[in-house]
Amino acid sequence: MTYDRLVCANCAAPVSEGRCPVCRANRERLEQEGPFGGLSPVALLALLVILVAAVVLLAHQTA
Ligand SMILES: [Zn+2]
Repeated sequence: MTYDRLVCANCAAPVSEGRCPVCRANRERLEQEGPFGGLSPVALLALLVILVAAVVLLAHQTA
């Protein structure tokens, strides 16, 4: 995972070790984000819709 090298601002230990509450909170938050880190499912869906719309528009223009 990407947080392996992340150092906590509170205890200066690797966040992955979960030594303090800040570490544990960060670790839980990062684990919930999944492979697209930071992008919410809604944002991903919106991106997909825009992509499909662009492909459809391009297909109509070149045909
Ligand atoms: Zn910490």
